[in-house]
Amino acid sequence: MTSRLQGFGTTIFAEMTQLAMQHGAVNLGQGFPDFEGPEFIKRAAIEAIESGHNQYCRTHGLPVLNAAIAEHQRRFWGLDYDPDSEITVYAGATEAIYATLAALCEVGDEVILFEPYYDSYRASVAMAGAHERLVTLRGPDFSFDPEQLRAAFTPKTRAILVNTPHNPTGKVYSRAELELIAQLCVEHDVLAITDEVYEHLVFDGEHLCLASLPGMRERTVVISSAGKTFSFTGWKIGHTCAPADISRALRSAHQFITFCNGTPFQVAMAQGYRAPDEYFDTFRSEYRARRDKLCAGLAEVGLEVLTPAGTYFVQTDIRPLGFDDDFEFCRMLPAKVGVAAIPTSAFYANREAGKHLVRWAFCKTDPVLEEGIRRLQQLK
Ligand code: PMP
Ligand code: GLN
Repeated sequence: MTSRLQGFGTTIFAEMTQLAMQHGAVNLGQGFPDFEGPEFIKRAAIEAIESGHNQYCRTHGLPVLNAAIAEHQRRFWGLDYDPDSEITVYAGATEAIYATLAALCEVGDEVILFEPYYDSYRASVAMAGAHERLVTLRGPDFSFDPEQLRAAFTPKTRAILVNTPHNPTGKVYSRAELELIAQLCVEHDVLAITDEVYEHLVFDGEHLCLASLPGMRERTVVISSAGKTFSFTGWKIGHTCAPADISRALRSAHQFITFCNGTPFQVAMAQGYRAPDEYFDTFRSEYRARRDKLCAGLAEVGLEVLTPAGTYFVQTDIRPLGFDDDFEFCRMLPAKVGVAAIPTSAFYANREAGKHLVRWAFCKTDPVLEEGIRRLQQLK
């Protein structure tokens, strides 16, 4: 293993899902739905396979999907992108993140990340040969210190990566926070990379695209994932929207990472992005109900719940139950209580800032959430 990959170990998702399977635990850890995505999308994939859409497709995405993503971006966020020169399709947002960093960072450049961060960010920055600069989000509201952010911008800063709605905290960045980030990007001539995979899961407030702020469209790579929006995470379809000159660089990396990804799934996801508004409204309201159910259950157990404004994750403080180490708690939980969760400090370089927090996923059916809550009563 190269020195760039030293220290990253095995992803926390693989570790906790393995423990959940070993102990037959209710898996409220790894974020994947335990239910199927919409039938019309599944049918579209099956029909695409049966009608012969089974070979490689255009490397930057099947034209019908690029067009549907462009329409979606205009419909929901008022942003115009040319489907042929400004939209690129990848094997999930994970590949999009890595391809973006590999394409845009010189060795030694700095990339600003907020911690806690989605776990692939740091490894992708390292694999791209760049260096991270961390800005800390602190509970209970997961805000950041504007001075720490300002100080993170240096002459070596190439990009800042912003994830809103935010995994693992459920934070939705406010307009004021995004305006400050935009102002600093313009002032320092820095690129923004936005991970918006939970763009349709905002329960309180609203989702705002950094790219829609003045001076930002030309310097932002917007990343999202059809896997999240249509509940087929295993199909691994993600995309970027970025100006043509930046997109050319992204494609030059993407062609040598995966070249292209699942053709029939791209046919099907195009239908998803063209779904009527009602699909997206129902998607959000069903998730709001799941959030409320899990939050109420976790509070009932005695955990301090930090209600998320977005995503399908909720943070809890474990100290009211007498625990103070999230890893110990999460490694004990599947065997002793029959539930799996994720230790939040796995997403902090500075472990102390997250050591009392545990993340629970509510992308699960009601009976599963109820059974999880029932088992957690043993902690009382
Ligand atoms: N970014 C964030 C914030 C995520 O939570 C995830 C996965 N759940 C991804 C990226 C990866 O998305 P994909 O499965 O499309 O690669
Ligand atoms: N994004 C999902 C989560 O946060 C997991 C995806 C993965 O396992 N790579 O739980």
